[in-house]
Amino acid sequence: MKFLYSDALLDMLVKHKVLSDKQRNFISLEKGKQRQKLLKQSTAPDPLDKNYPDLIDIIISLNLKKSGSQKESVDEETIMRAVGREFKLDFKKLDPLELDMDIVTKTIPKTYAISHFLLPFNVVEGILEVAVYHPDSHTVLADIEQANQIKTRPYIATKSEIKRILAEFFGFQTSISAAEDQMGMSQTGTSVDIGNLERYVKISAKDITSSDQHIKNAVNHIFNYALDQRASDIHIEPKRDVCMVRFRIDGVLHTIYKLPKVVHSAIVSRIKFLSRLDIAEKRRPQDGRIKIGVSGEKDIEIRVSTVPVSFGEKAVLRILDPEIIFQSVQQLGFSKRDFGIFKSFMYSPHGIFLVTGPTGSGKSTTLYSALKTIATPEMNLVTVEDPVEMVHEEFNQIAVQPLIDVTFSTILRNILRQDPDVIMIGEIRDFDTAAHAVQAAMTGHLVFSTLHTNDAISSIVRLRDLGLESFLIGSTLLGAMAQRLVKTICPDCSKPVKVEADMLYNMGFPVSGSDPITLRRGAGCRECRKTGYLGRSGIFEIFPLSSRLKEMIANGENTDEMRQVAIREGMTTLREDAWRKVKAGITTYEEALRVTGE
Ligand SMILES: [Zn+2]
Repeated sequence: MKFLYSDALLDMLVKHKVLSDKQRNFISLEKGKQRQKLLKQSTAPDPLDKNYPDLIDIIISLNLKKSGSQKESVDEETIMRAVGREFKLDFKKLDPLELDMDIVTKTIPKTYAISHFLLPFNVVEGILEVAVYHPDSHTVLADIEQANQIKTRPYIATKSEIKRILAEFFGFQTSISAAEDQMGMSQTGTSVDIGNLERYVKISAKDITSSDQHIKNAVNHIFNYALDQRASDIHIEPKRDVCMVRFRIDGVLHTIYKLPKVVHSAIVSRIKFLSRLDIAEKRRPQDGRIKIGVSGEKDIEIRVSTVPVSFGEKAVLRILDPEIIFQSVQQLGFSKRDFGIFKSFMYSPHGIFLVTGPTGSGKSTTLYSALKTIATPEMNLVTVEDPVEMVHEEFNQIAVQPLIDVTFSTILRNILRQDPDVIMIGEIRDFDTAAHAVQAAMTGHLVFSTLHTNDAISSIVRLRDLGLESFLIGSTLLGAMAQRLVKTICPDCSKPVKVEADMLYNMGFPVSGSDPITLRRGAGCRECRKTGYLGRSGIFEIFPLSSRLKEMIANGENTDEMRQVAIREGMTTLREDAWRKVKAGITTYEEALRVTGE
């Protein structure tokens, strides 16, 4: 006799103060009658629950209030938590999103799982975690351990959750097999490619859903292919007749697939499911993230945003590769002089350092890399971001949430009380944020942030425009840096080219003489998808705030004059730094012109 089906359960519930003595006696008397009533009510037998209604079903159906309580009812979870306490087993609330399909469906046979209400859900350090309904499942678990050669750890869960998840996962698997049989491709397992997807669509265009194995495989395939191709973004766009999949590689969008339109919403739903977005909400933009494990390697995060457009929902996925986001500062592409200044800012005890440039110019990578370089266990490093670009365990990262009024400035006000050493503010957009940054710098903190200006010197004017007093800027700003990313020449097909000096001079490059100049360019090969470029590098324009510049800020002098002074003091402009990389064969003059042309 199983414990849950016996009157011992009632005694136990009294012992754990779920039921009163009176209630126990009432249930004992009524259970036979109540069982008949429930059987009559249920229209068809439940294939997943042959013993329905069991004693717990009966208790719940009586709608009792917990012993000594007016409000708390005796529900399934209350009962199962008490069972867990009695048997010293932790209670587990099951979240379908956290479950691994393979573990759930492949560890034990479906009929076995259903007849014993078992749900294997995780493997932790070589131990299989199993949600059980019956606390006395030792023999069953021993059988599983024997068959799978793995130790098990049982958790108590409610019968309804176990049933629901078993139905979802196994039901789903059955439909996949059916679909695969239909295509005569059950032998291929999981590696369905896009070609197969198209064939599949032709066969069954009617009801393709996001839980369809082909859709799941297609989405996995897109992820893997994007990672293979070093794509930074994946765009999945609904057009009138097709679903376009494009990758951004080294800053340029390439069309990768045109899929049948019928799969578009299923693919987007699958992505929304993976990033825990509301699948039913299709009219409002949403943001989420997915973490995917790449076979044997590090986890990669993908930031997902969806927006409604004319022909459906468009999804843009940004791949946040930690190796790209957290580069070492030496890899960013600084000249020797610029690196020296950058380092002096990084190791300043306090003050504000600003990085400027348009979206996609690599500002976050630069700041993350700097933070990572200076981070030590003794240091309290806080970032305030919108949104958090990349999660890093050494930083305390806080996301701005304007909808609930958690803004840069409200967060800053609070974190200053927690005595951070270094604060990174995602972006200074308004006076309040600027004022908090200044206050932090004045009270001994090092502050990194970004601004939207085209060049480094303009950041001074921008701060002034936001409403900051000149003397506050002069006394807290360490300096500023503008940056861009240039595509770098593919090393596998790089070759020398002769370029007319006149032409370069007319383009604004600092060239003298009239002899043709030897530069380099990529011929295009397989490695670089025939583009001639592989990877990107930063170009920079950086200045420390000299006493002369401080004076000029105090006197309210204009940007052009200040820029001239900064240049005289040694600042190389973005154009000059780009030219340095052209001459070094790192990038092309066309790329330098594209990125630094106004
Ligand atoms: Zn190449």
